[in-house]
Amino acid sequence: MNIAVLSGKGGTGKTFISVNLSEVAGNSTYIDCDVEEPNGHLFFKPTNITRNSIYVNIPEVDNNICTGCKKCVGFCKFNALAYTNKVLVFEDVCHSCGGCSIICPANAITEKKKEIGIVEKGISNNVSVISGIMNIGEVSGVPIIKESLKYIDNNNYNIIDCPPGSSCIVMDSIKDADYCILVAEPTIFGSHNLNMVYDLVKLFNKPHGVVLNKYTDKNNPIEEFCNEKNINILEKIYFDKSIGNLNSNGEIVSRVNDKYKELFSSLLEKVTKEVWHAEITNP
Ligand code: SF4
Ligand code: SF4
Repeated sequence: MNIAVLSGKGGTGKTFISVNLSEVAGNSTYIDCDVEEPNGHLFFKPTNITRNSIYVNIPEVDNNICTGCKKCVGFCKFNALAYTNKVLVFEDVCHSCGGCSIICPANAITEKKKEIGIVEKGISNNVSVISGIMNIGEVSGVPIIKESLKYIDNNNYNIIDCPPGSSCIVMDSIKDADYCILVAEPTIFGSHNLNMVYDLVKLFNKPHGVVLNKYTDKNNPIEEFCNEKNINILEKIYFDKSIGNLNSNGEIVSRVNDKYKELFSSLLEKVTKEVWHAEITNP
């Protein structure tokens, strides 16, 4: 079962929820798709690490063949090519679409490989820990996410820690999800951020529910938002300073605190039942 954990912005507790769900799931795979800032591994501290480099294709121009027609420059919608007295390639903004090499009438453009990041695999107790890590300055983490998702194990729980927001890399991360958990803080800004990811899961027609993190009993607008939209609130995790302390020490809360072990086990059970229910009602 593949469970994606999303939030409209960073810092809402998305990784906290993902890491603890993987922990209580027993034999499971935690996949960190937040490739710009992967930090789940800081909690799991995995061992037996292996690393795969991820490459994309970048154009390379043979100036001995190039006629200077500039068709490639006009074609590139990402402004990754320019012509002075030869074609210049700005690798950092190239999206590796391959179009320029196809359009070149002189066949002057070939492609070379460029490393954009790595996928790390390790183990922490019963959890396989997969981390996609993008090199600083790269434009797209999609190839790294695609490679990371190849580690999905169809016999176990896979918890996918998505990038924040609702951009195309988030869409790639939830593509294979059976269920999406939307994590939000109970504030007016939280409602706005939740709305972004809510629209996304609706668009993809994914079963979903919300976890309200850092919850307090004060009047909070996000609960009203969920009620208005008829969004299932799966869990309210109360604001608790001890969680902050454990998190900042890189501890997995459900490994060291029975109350939270129970809370995350119950959350996993609720999501599992929701997936079964969705499978029965939408076979
Ligand atoms: S399209 Fe080909 S021939 Fe024309 S400028 Fe670009 S590389 Fe040179
Ligand atoms: S591969 Fe695509 S994005 Fe990169 S330079 Fe060529 S046309 Fe532009």
